Amino acid sequence: HAAGETVLQIDKARKEFGGLVAVNNISFDVKAGEIMGLIGPNGAGKSTMFNLVTGVLPLTSGEVRFRVGNQLQRIDGLPSRSIVRHGIARTFQHVKLMPTMTVLENVAIGAHLRGTYNDVNGIGASIARWNRKEEQVLLFEAKKQLERVGLGNMLYEEAGSLALGQQRILEIARALCCDPTLLLLDEPAAGLRYKEKQALADLLRKLRAEGMSILLVEHDMDFVMNLTDRLVVMEFGTKIAEGVPTEVQEDEAVLEAYLGG
Ligand code: ADP
Ligand code: MG
Repeated sequence: HAAGETVLQIDKARKEFGGLVAVNNISFDVKAGEIMGLIGPNGAGKSTMFNLVTGVLPLTSGEVRFRVGNQLQRIDGLPSRSIVRHGIARTFQHVKLMPTMTVLENVAIGAHLRGTYNDVNGIGASIARWNRKEEQVLLFEAKKQLERVGLGNMLYEEAGSLALGQQRILEIARALCCDPTLLLLDEPAAGLRYKEKQALADLLRKLRAEGMSILLVEHDMDFVMNLTDRLVVMEFGTKIAEGVPTEVQEDEAVLEAYLGG
């Protein structure tokens, strides 16, 4: 994707759960090679937004498009596995690791899952099914992605023994095995120490420099302020602000949502 062109276009996306409107006619774009932030208080609808984009949940109404070659193509309604193959991969708000397996094996699972990776129910379901021939390919890919994210020296550690910040980076490596052009990260910095947040931010900047487009959900405003190129702010399912971090930071509605509550 050429820098600056729209890769993801969300057009009046709406999701109702019974009487609850979790995502209320949200529209925004993600451009190639940018880090876009999606922030808002708990329950704002951020994770639901990810589930809509990755095909884990169907939209109630609205459209989602993704760039394929010269065109923005509708991806809403496609099964999750086709959306991954188009180049969208995600991480989950809650870490999903096999704690007694090695770092390398955990990432190889992601490589094996590719097609079903964006649906959390798929993880773990098929670990036992890969065959010997396939195994070498999966381990090679996993190793490559672990080196890319800076965990190349921890391949044979038990995943459960890693610090939380490293586990989150492991999950990014696992998503990278799907060979995405757009990464969706759901609260990757939650619960991390300051140093870990810095390491994570450095990694995301490195991926951006490699041309990756990133949509990042965050609860914590401070983390996104120094990292994102643009931000969308949600509250109770609705978009209340959009712009560059310095603009959004001074927006009345945003201050109200974060401080007024
Ligand atoms: P956020 O990630 O911004 O904290 P969520 O997208 O998880 O918010 O949730 C938005 C709202 O939708 C919340 O009120 C939540 O309880 C509700 N919700 C999320 N997923 C479901 C679901 N599968 N069924 C019913 N309600 C849901
Ligand atoms: Mg969430």
